Amino acid sequence: MSHFPKKGLWQQCPRCHRHVHRLEWGQLRICPYCGYYLRLTAKQRIQQLTTGNDFIRLPKLAEHTVPFTFPGYQQKLAQAREKTGLKEAFVAGQAQLAGATFILGVMDSHFMMGTLNIVVGARLRQAIETAKQRKLPLILVIASGGARMQEGILSLLQMNTVLAAYDALNAAGLFTLNILTDPTMGGVSASFAFAADIVLAEAGATIGFAGKRVIEATSHEVLPTDFQTADSLYRQGQLDAVVQRSNLTAVVSQLLRLH
Ligand SMILES: [Zn+2]
Repeated sequence: MSHFPKKGLWQQCPRCHRHVHRLEWGQLRICPYCGYYLRLTAKQRIQQLTTGNDFIRLPKLAEHTVPFTFPGYQQKLAQAREKTGLKEAFVAGQAQLAGATFILGVMDSHFMMGTLNIVVGARLRQAIETAKQRKLPLILVIASGGARMQEGILSLLQMNTVLAAYDALNAAGLFTLNILTDPTMGGVSASFAFAADIVLAEAGATIGFAGKRVIEATSHEVLPTDFQTADSLYRQGQLDAVVQRSNLTAVVSQLLRLH
């Protein structure tokens, strides 16, 4: 028997660099020493925001023809599928929390950084349209690096079509809530991320359009240390609230009850 600890049991905290045991990270994956949040998977988010096992996935969509002309794209997709057990970076279903029924859609940053492509766009529209048809609130948990460059302009096109569907839902007067988590960047922050009635961010999330280094390199200016953080966006009036991960379920429950 090996004397080395089992793989995946200990994980070093990226902020305080302590070695933290899986049980200490807990279900919400919070560092017990410094409060750092590890990124959650779609499955963990669904568990956090759903009572019991009350999550019924939306029906499968017809297969999309994905252009694989970008070098190495097909292999990258296959790796992401193997790593996450997901087919794509977005999962949606009908969920229940605090006695309320709603449509919950979750982006998974472990799948090619939650990037928006043809399939993610189609699934997002399906979630939005289902909320409208069933007259239910929509909650989206966003975690995305932006549009998926491997699908080029077809990814960028999703920014408009998802936003158009979102606008139609808002026009129908149904309650919409977006929870921006780390990271919310690029084409996702520039389209539907801020389109909800209420926009919350998880504490510590990086939210912006272009990355800080890119902006510094092109503008030749040093940006403030809190640039593109949830707190600075809140101070500038872009967010309704910044919520600690441990409070998120309670805050979402309360908002659902109020609406
Ligand atoms: Zn830590």
